[in-house]
Amino acid sequence: MTQVLRILIIDDNPGDRALVIRELRREFPQIQAQEIREAAGFAGAVAAGEFDLAITDYQLGWSTGIEVLHTIKQQYPNCPVIMFTNTGSEEIAVEAMKSGLDDYVLKLPNRYIRIPTTVRIALERKQIKQKATLLEIRLQGLLNQLKVGIFRTYPDGNFIECNPAFLELLGLDSLSQASGANLLNIPEYYSILQELPPPQHQEQEIQLQRADGRQIWVELSIALNTVQGQQVLDGLIEDITFRKHAEIEIQQLNLRLEERVRERTSELEVANRDLVQTNQLLAMANQDLEAFSYSISHDLREPLRAIQAFSSILLENQESQSDLKNKQNYLQRIIASTQQADRLVQDLLEYSRLTHTEMPLQAINLSLLMRQTLRQLELELTHRQARVEIEEPLAEVIANSTILIQVITNLLTNAIKFVAPGVQPLLRIWTQKHNGFVRLWVQDNGIGIEERYQKRIFNVFERLHSYEIYPGSGIGLAIVRKGVERMGGQVGVESQLGQGSRFWLDLPITYN
Ligand code: ADP
Repeated sequence: MTQVLRILIIDDNPGDRALVIRELRREFPQIQAQEIREAAGFAGAVAAGEFDLAITDYQLGWSTGIEVLHTIKQQYPNCPVIMFTNTGSEEIAVEAMKSGLDDYVLKLPNRYIRIPTTVRIALERKQIKQKATLLEIRLQGLLNQLKVGIFRTYPDGNFIECNPAFLELLGLDSLSQASGANLLNIPEYYSILQELPPPQHQEQEIQLQRADGRQIWVELSIALNTVQGQQVLDGLIEDITFRKHAEIEIQQLNLRLEERVRERTSELEVANRDLVQTNQLLAMANQDLEAFSYSISHDLREPLRAIQAFSSILLENQESQSDLKNKQNYLQRIIASTQQADRLVQDLLEYSRLTHTEMPLQAINLSLLMRQTLRQLELELTHRQARVEIEEPLAEVIANSTILIQVITNLLTNAIKFVAPGVQPLLRIWTQKHNGFVRLWVQDNGIGIEERYQKRIFNVFERLHSYEIYPGSGIGLAIVRKGVERMGGQVGVESQLGQGSRFWLDLPITYN
């Protein structure tokens, strides 16, 4: 140690003072000794405080070593004091040590040598103590600044110590309030930690109530330790309320997002289904169109060819106009063919109009509508001597009256048309409730329809018989199907060849 060492030597005996200085110089050549022989000198030296260590005799003429010790330690608690004496007993030494004496050396020849060592150890201890004090101050400062609460408690929940952040976090005023409030439920943690294998430590996020009743989230880290044979719980708590709320908000946002994705997916599914349906409808429309184009060319060509043929015959026969009867016959056939072509075109127009026209729907009394339709068909019915039985009352439906009259007219004209020769047409009409719809039945005693044709006859130009036997355009039932479908219903037929047919229409029911 090259630093100047300032030592206060308090001893009445000049020889002993010289001895101490000589011994010290061996190890501390830079020594600055201040020798004290009486009370005034001691008081002056203490007041000036210019010393790093004091060595005092026990027996002084003007005081005792214990008093000297007290005086110095009172003013300079960290200043080492060593006693160098031949009068003190062991009891005195123990008492002096209790009062803060750093060491003592007996005034015996073989002990002088120990003086420098004792002084060095005392100085080193002083330095270590100073460092420790500094560290403690720094640590305390840090702990006080931390937003993390630190505590130590006995297993029963009595708090031993904590930092200000701990009290602040839990809204507490003092350590004793912390012990009384039991906000952390320490005894429960103690019983949990006790069961754990070492290290007996647990970390968890918990929600707890502060002393002022406010709920907060904290991250608690707690460990069971043993300090000087006593079990204690050391813990840290950190306020994570903000983070926790953010997490909860994110969770809720995620849930809402999932919900929206689900909604969107089902919307997409519906849109997809609609698209598939639209495509199916388009495909059907295309099929219709193909059948339509094929048949229109086919069916229109037939009467047109007849017109052509008979017109040429008339032209060729111009020379010999003798056969007037023949001419009349040809002309009649031409007229019939043009009528057939006209009928075809009219029906087609009717059919295509069904797709485009507005169709307001309303509640319709079928009994009234049926009577109205039959009145319109009266001439034809009488001509065929047809008998019509209606099972009154017929139900009410939601429909468009103009279209419904046309649909029923087509069914009735077919029913009286497709009968075997010489058979009186018998028609039976009734309604029934069926799967939430009103089903209107039109039954005839006609020629019947083979099962394999029962679906096809509702397509445009599907006809099962030649024009000569049963004249018609092949559009009547296509109009029936399209009209009913546009009113939200369905059509079908039950029949057997030669056993008559029962056509049915399902129409939406009224709810009044
Ligand atoms: P059209 O009556 O002009 O021939 P439809 O479209 O009305 O055309 O009918 C299609 C075909 O269905 C008819 O040609 C006929 O073969 C068959 N059909 C329709 N109604 C009946 C019925 N009541 N009894 C037997 N066959 C029928």
